[in-house]
Amino acid sequence: MKILVTGGAGFIGSNLCARLLDEGHTVFCVDNLITGSTENIQAFIDHPHFKFLKHDVTEPFESDAEVIFHLASPASPVGYLEHPIETIMVNSTGTHRMLELARKNNARFLISSTSEIYGDPLVHPQREDYWGNVNPIGPRACYDESKRLGETLVMEYYRQFQTNVRIVRIFNTYGPNSAIEDGRMIPNFITQALKNTPITIYGDGNKTRSITYVSDLVDGLMRAMFSPNTTGEVFNLGSSEEHTVLEYAQMIIRLCNSSSEILFETSRVDDPERRRANTTKAQQILGWQRKVDMEEGLRQTIEWFGKRIAQYSTVS
Ligand code: NAD
Repeated sequence: MKILVTGGAGFIGSNLCARLLDEGHTVFCVDNLITGSTENIQAFIDHPHFKFLKHDVTEPFESDAEVIFHLASPASPVGYLEHPIETIMVNSTGTHRMLELARKNNARFLISSTSEIYGDPLVHPQREDYWGNVNPIGPRACYDESKRLGETLVMEYYRQFQTNVRIVRIFNTYGPNSAIEDGRMIPNFITQALKNTPITIYGDGNKTRSITYVSDLVDGLMRAMFSPNTTGEVFNLGSSEEHTVLEYAQMIIRLCNSSSEILFETSRVDDPERRRANTTKAQQILGWQRKVDMEEGLRQTIEWFGKRIAQYSTVS
């Protein structure tokens, strides 16, 4: 099929493009590289069924795609705090443009939303019918609230035009191709542990997180896009295995054989206390479940980070 991936040069998008090419699809990747990198698509940039366009999806472009994975958006706090307006625009105007394209082409459409739409949740674990607890005017609102607006747009296209849409709320994902300086927990901890510099924990380390390896997440995106009975549906994709931030830090220090100490710093504004996905719906409707064990996923990620860090230090 002819498949458009917006944000395809990012962490998740590049892993998705690789999977789509493996399955024999023709992939059109559109990315303005605001937080992504052509390094992530280097392995298949010359593939005969792959085309890359450096372009901002808030601006018009042509595509005859039959399937649209709309992943474009800064995703890490470092990314969206540096580009708050661009984040709002890609999740609102960019989403509107991609929905119009889906309507015109009669294409299947998927938006990568986020567990951040639950804000600092008051219900655990979070099911898709939980409405969230979000600060609309805080520094993170550019991301949380624009993703919420993106979801609203998607559902209006479904109600008004019966566009073939689905929403996936992604929880914390880790793996190869995530940006080294991305500022999120796993990339931060691995980079610090590999360099034997102190591991920084924001808060007292008792906040909890659940993490999913990127190949499992990509598998969930494929299932959400192509399984029957997914039109107009919302799916959480994440892990239900919850650990404290301190436990992740200790595990990564052990797996990296690192001598890093742990430093505790002030919590970031509006950083949620707990986050854990309820994925019953994805299991039941998509037959999706996590395959990669956390320790195995972390080992693979550490190996990839080790190579990337070594590459950077040779270049500089
Ligand atoms: P990423 O920053 O690595 O990738 C996002 C890509 O979108 C980048 O390549 C960036 O250059 C591109 N982009 C941003 N604005 C654009 C625009 N206006 N036009 C064209 N391209 C644009 O982030 P990621 O972790 O791969 O996230 C991908 C998607 O998944 C995002 O929508 C994000 O909100 C969502 N998500 C990710 C996670 C996670 O843990 N990684 C969690 C929840 C949701």
